[in-house]
Formats: sequence, structure tokens, C-alpha cells
Amino acid sequence: MKFINLTRRTEIGANSYYFEAAGQRLVLDCGMHPKQEGEEALPNFRILDDRPLDAIIVSHAHLDHIGTLPVLMRRQPDAQIFMTETTAEIGSALLHNSVNVMTRQREELGVVMYPLFTHKETDRATDRWRWCPLGQPFTLAGERASRSEGDALTVEFVDAGHVLGAAGVILRAEGRTVFYSGDVNFDDQTITAGAVFPESGVDVLIMETTRGDHPLPEGFTREAEERRLAEAIERAFSAGGCILMPVFALGKTQEALGMIYKFRKQKLLGEFPIYIGGLSVKMTEIYDRRALTMRRLLPRLQLLEELNPFVLNGQTIHDSPARGGRIYALSSGMMTPKTLSNIFARRVIENPEHSIFFVGYADPESPAGILKATQPGELVSLDPEEPPLRLNCKVEQFQFSAHASRESIVDYVKKLAPKKIVLVHGDMPAVEWTHAQLAAALPGSEVIVPKPGVELEL
Ligand SMILES: [Zn+2]
Ligand SMILES: [Zn+2]
Repeated sequence: MKFINLTRRTEIGANSYYFEAAGQRLVLDCGMHPKQEGEEALPNFRILDDRPLDAIIVSHAHLDHIGTLPVLMRRQPDAQIFMTETTAEIGSALLHNSVNVMTRQREELGVVMYPLFTHKETDRATDRWRWCPLGQPFTLAGERASRSEGDALTVEFVDAGHVLGAAGVILRAEGRTVFYSGDVNFDDQTITAGAVFPESGVDVLIMETTRGDHPLPEGFTREAEERRLAEAIERAFSAGGCILMPVFALGKTQEALGMIYKFRKQKLLGEFPIYIGGLSVKMTEIYDRRALTMRRLLPRLQLLEELNPFVLNGQTIHDSPARGGRIYALSSGMMTPKTLSNIFARRVIENPEHSIFFVGYADPESPAGILKATQPGELVSLDPEEPPLRLNCKVEQFQFSAHASRESIVDYVKKLAPKKIVLVHGDMPAVEWTHAQLAAALPGSEVIVPKPGVELEL
């Protein structure tokens, strides 16, 4: 069995991994880097030039996992494409949105190779995707398989928590079992239920380590954190301010809406206007449409109907004032320049009445990460094309990550005790912490940090 990390650095960027077993070749995920541009935003697909793929498997629809799928499909025209039906529906909407974003970047930033693919190509690509349910093994020809197929390679999706449609991927071949976690959350969120992962029988584990550099605060519970958020919203509104919540369109937006719904039900907060972005509306529609058929919490909650959010888009964002007593839950979560949350932040940052609440992960080098590290009163630059701003508004951080805590990842891996553990999807300090913990806890296991571009024998 062979494995190659196709990312360009050890980081959470354009996630993509090559896997070969039983004479078959596949790629797990093909993301787009959220911060890089042009060629640097792609995984290192050149490594695949003399390795024609049988299949591409997508764990979930976040762009750092699906964002370059049309490019890889163009380079690998014979590969079969597999994902869950929900990931296909969400992924199609996100890729079309990505075409629009890249087209804007071409105009505004002069990235000549953008867009990397077109709307037409995205449509043609999505026609070729094959949907696979959770818990049903299949072959790379797309046929149903049993769990004891022998030597041939089979694939099975399992529920990864994280966001709607997200799956971990079990690969069985040559009498061994390899498990790729994708992005995982073991705990229930407000809407998304925690992962259902295998607890034994895994020989090789490929594990994400997103939160490896952040300890869980002492005594942390999600309920207490939700209460802390409700109280902070109340305080911000009483001070006459509004709240900007930079959120991912997929996942965090719906979890935030779900929490606000709960706060109203629990009479912690009254009614107030909520604003979300156009892409978030599309994502939320999918959550609502699939509510009763997916494994989730609050299955009867129809978010759009219940919370009735106002919608902002790339045009209306420029003339919508920041008004007190309102929540602006806008993407992107990392506040990438030219996105709604970045543009709206200019109206919020210098006003001490207003607040910015972070509710999830942000890359330390992204504008959101830079803002989190800025001291009150300091200047902060969120967009190289705009003048810096003085940070006068309140900034608060809450822990509602869609990723497993590092403690729960270590617990899970200890219980599973695979012979080999490959650590991926983490910045260097996160990977190093996880490596040290697992190497100490499982002396009989080999813990590997796969060097980008280097072929490993698993
Ligand atoms: Zn994700
Ligand atoms: Zn990810």
C-alpha cells in the first residue's frame, strides 16, 4: 500500500492524498488552499501525471477538500468520483460560487489563471459524480461490495459529524483496513450529531489534527459555552452595538442559527434581526430540505422559516450600515479579503459599541487570525488594498469548532490503537503535539507525519 501527501506544506491548505492498494489508485479529497492564489492554491497534482487514477473520493464539501475537483477531473478523465449525496448537492453550489469568487479575483487581483474552471465545466463535472450512502461498501467500479471482499479495494463512508454530508472513508484491500477520518467531530454540535466511527479493526489511520495546538479549556462543556454566548449577545445589544460573526457558509452558519433558535426557546434572548449571506442561504436551504432524512439534532427545525434572516450579497453589503441590536453572521469564516465578513468588518472595527464574535477556527495568518491576535487600540490590516483600521470594537472568542478537540482525537486513537497513524490536516504545531502524545501513548504504533510529495509504504 502506498500513500503520498499531495499538499505543498504541512498545513491545513489544499488537502489531498494519494492512496494505492491492490493495483488500484485513488485520491482522497482535492481541496483548494484558502489563502494561496493560482497554482499555489492547488494540491501538487503533477505527482499524479504518471499515475492514472481509478477514483477520486471526496469526504465533504468544504473547499479545502473539494475546491479543485473539476481541475483534477480534467487531468484524470478516467477516474470515477464518489461522495455522499448531500456532499454532492452542497459541493455543486460551493464550486459554482467558487467560480464567481475566482472570476472576481482575476479582475481585482489580476490572477491570470483564474477561474481555474468555469460554470459549464462544473456542471459537466457534477454530472459524473456518483453518490454513495453511509455504511454501504462499494468497489471503485461503483458496485456494492461486502466488507470481506478479500484482496480487492473497497470503500465505505461513515458519518464524520463535522458538517452535513461529511464522511470518514474506510478503505479495505489486501486483507487490511485503512481509515481516513476526513474532518471529524466526535461531539454533538447544535444541529450536527457527533461522528459514528469504527472503534476496532483499523490497521492504518489517516487522522486530521486541526485543533492539535489548542487545549480544551478546563471544565469546558458546549452547554456552558452556549450560555456564555447568549450572555455576551445580551451584553453587546444592551451597549447599543451590533455583532459581526464571521462564519463559514457551510456548517457554522447553520449551527449559529440553531443556537439563536435555542436561545429564543429558552427565553435567554428575545427576537432580533439576523443577517446572512446569499451563499449561506443556499447552504441553509439544503440543511432544511434534508432535516428529516439526515441523522441530526433538532430534526424538525426549519432554520430559514423559523429565524427568517435578512440576506446580504456582494452588492448590498456595500451600503448596509452596522445597526445595533443585530447579528451579522457573514462568511467567510477566515475573513478573506473581498468577502462579506471582511467588507462588513470595516464598519464595525473602529466603533467601541460594536462587537466581533469568533465562533470557530481561523488560520493564524488569515485576516480573522490576525484580528484575533491584535491588541485593543492597535492598528490592524484586513485587506492589503485598504488602509489599516484601529481596533476599538470588542472581540470575543467562543469554542464551537466543527472539529474534534485534540483530547477527543487522542482518546479515539488510543482506543483504536492502529499499527500505523498518519497525521494530516494540521498546522505544524498541531501535528507535532499530536505526534508527541500518540507516540508516548502507543509505543507499539508507528506515528507518521507524511512529508509533502514523498511516497510512503503503509
Ligand atoms: Zn471541513
Ligand atoms: Zn478541512
